[in-house]
Amino acid sequence: MGMLSVVLPAYNEELMIGKTCSVLAGLLEHSGISYELVLVDDGSRDNTWEEIKKAGKKNTHILGVHFSRNFGKESAVFAGMAQASGDVIAVMDCDLQHPPKTLLEMYKLWEEGYEVIEGRKISRGQESFLHKKSAGFFYRIMSKATGVDMQNASDFKMMDRKAADSILSMPERSMFFRALSGWVGFRTASVPFEVQEREAGESKWSAWSLVKYAFTNIVAFTTIPLQFVTLAGAACFLISLILTVYSLVQYFAGHAVEGYTTLLIMLLFIGSAVMMSLGIIGYYISKIYEEVKRRPRYLISQMMRGEEDISDQAKSDAD
Ligand code: UDP
Ligand code: MG
Repeated sequence: MGMLSVVLPAYNEELMIGKTCSVLAGLLEHSGISYELVLVDDGSRDNTWEEIKKAGKKNTHILGVHFSRNFGKESAVFAGMAQASGDVIAVMDCDLQHPPKTLLEMYKLWEEGYEVIEGRKISRGQESFLHKKSAGFFYRIMSKATGVDMQNASDFKMMDRKAADSILSMPERSMFFRALSGWVGFRTASVPFEVQEREAGESKWSAWSLVKYAFTNIVAFTTIPLQFVTLAGAACFLISLILTVYSLVQYFAGHAVEGYTTLLIMLLFIGSAVMMSLGIIGYYISKIYEEVKRRPRYLISQMMRGEEDISDQAKSDAD
């Protein structure tokens, strides 16, 4: 028996906090698992933080973490894991789309000695057509680029202290949590679950934010796009060789190639290829720039355990 910390990132989830807390607390108490719920308010614009404090008044097992602004889900997950004190740490969405019962299955596997337990989606729940398409597109690119099967991967996971600490010790600022838990290795099991429908509030993902997410994470996880630049260069070189030979032959045969149009097309083609390559390289440079600044991943403005303000105990991310 070990204590379970459940990390729940929350952004504009005022409608869900109360319900999620009572469902999880009820379930874990009923199963006799000692637990804490780490709710990270990711700079919500609504009453999420008030709701977390209200839940804390009823239940001292609730640890509320309040960010100074919105830092994004990955940062919220990271902060929650850093503050969690359990022997085993679970991460799940706080909109109850990850079925709480699956937590018990994961916990059982952890007791059997598994160190990383991944939630695997077997259905994507009710999502809009566009969302499904863009998510599908994103996961295909991601899987190709990272070599990790992303189609059914989720952010619903349970990790032993050892695995969690190794993720926490990673120095990079932009991290892709979903893939990292696979990267650390350890004894891994997976548990299938059905994505539930969101009961209240709305999804924070637009199609555009998914595209941005895809780019950020591909760059955070792999350098394959840089090889594309080299490949494109090699292809251009081959074409240029062929064209050189062709034009020389034409020249010595006495009829030079019609110049202007060919030249214009070639110039435009090479110009755009060079600029796109620069864009890809530039994107990596901008990421390097962000990383070398070593800014903290998040800033905590307040932390509550139950009713008690423990802001001074918050572990900051600055190292
Ligand atoms: N979330 C967050 N910060 C953000 C966006 C989302 O902490 O900037 C949380 C959100 O409160 C939820 C989880 O991440 O608990 C998943 O978000 P959402 O339900 O909007 O995504 P979906 O389930 O539609 O993929
Ligand atoms: Mg959701």
